[in-house]
Amino acid sequence: ANERESMYLVSEFARNHFSEMLWDTELGKAIGLSYFRERGFTDETIKKFGLGYCLDQWDGFTTAALHKGYQLNYLDKTGLTIVKEDSQNPNNPRTFDRFKGRVMFPIHSMSGRVLGFGGRILKIDKKAAKYLNSPESDIYHKSKVLYGIFFAKQAIAKEDNCYLVEGYTDVIQFYQRGIENVVSSSGTALTPEQIRLINRLTKNITVLFDGDAAGLRASVRGIDLILEQGMNVKVCTFPEGEDPDSFAKNNELEEVQKYLADNAKDFIQFKANLLAEEAANDPIKRAETVRDIVNSIAKIPDPIKREIYIQECAHIMNVSEGVLFSTLAQINMKDA
Ligand code: ATP
Ligand code: MN
Ligand code: MN
Ligand code: MN
Repeated sequence: ANERESMYLVSEFARNHFSEMLWDTELGKAIGLSYFRERGFTDETIKKFGLGYCLDQWDGFTTAALHKGYQLNYLDKTGLTIVKEDSQNPNNPRTFDRFKGRVMFPIHSMSGRVLGFGGRILKIDKKAAKYLNSPESDIYHKSKVLYGIFFAKQAIAKEDNCYLVEGYTDVIQFYQRGIENVVSSSGTALTPEQIRLINRLTKNITVLFDGDAAGLRASVRGIDLILEQGMNVKVCTFPEGEDPDSFAKNNELEEVQKYLADNAKDFIQFKANLLAEEAANDPIKRAETVRDIVNSIAKIPDPIKREIYIQECAHIMNVSEGVLFSTLAQINMKDA
């Protein structure tokens, strides 16, 4: 428990340090702060989310932390510092700042403690990952964290809905635009634990997909996990080349709200339409897609909802309700 407390403390120091570099150094202002401002973030937003900058030096952060008395052991365990043993010099390992030269997004727990970071490179470069995240650690379990949950939790309960987006900047831009009930799984596949965090606050999720279509099918599979927890799921896609960040940056609140109201579709209907389109003229594929959609419906705990969806999907996919009900019965037999 003490170890973890030390890891929390060093993470909090790091958040403060990166934010100091952003606001109070010439390089931080010229590079990091202007980057965030160009993305349309106001100073208030940058402060609210605790955004920062890690100077482009080998170990500027690590040196500052050690100087303040934080132990290398915890810098290593949180992944903030990369420690390389030196066989020539076993008592003096070489240390590197993991997030060198990146703008920093602290990741908070539900109660607001800093668990880890996401760091973005400034210029897209084929050699380096666009985003780098803290490694899994005793305080940072990727599968149990949702980016933005600390800032969003009250609005999620109040609005009785949660928007789920792909990235850090989507969360921040939505929040700044006035849609505060928004969180992100930040590039990892959604997990049951993450859904449970939302489920405690609302039964309604609206999943927002980037307009790049990449990974849409894979993500659609992950949504069955939300249905399994008895939640109501809507999905909404954005125009080609847009994501919630760019859309909220370029449109007023009323326009964003109107877009969401007009385009958010019930997930089962969305999936049925998607599959029906794909398999239109191919009987074998159509048989597969029927099973696929009934598989999703089978995850819904409420039998009344299941029945209503069966009726709708029969219509969308142009098959009889009877076929869908018997497919559902088969699936239930297998699972029993
Ligand atoms: P930006 O607008 O800053 O370019 P984005 O959030 O739109 O980024 P996407 O490419 O849509 O980025 O990816 C969504 C999320 O997936 C990111 O916010 C990040 O959490 C994660 N991600 C993206 N690329 C990487 C990567 N190379 N390594 C690790 N995680 C990544
Ligand atoms: Mn994307
Ligand atoms: Mn994106
Ligand atoms: Mn983006």
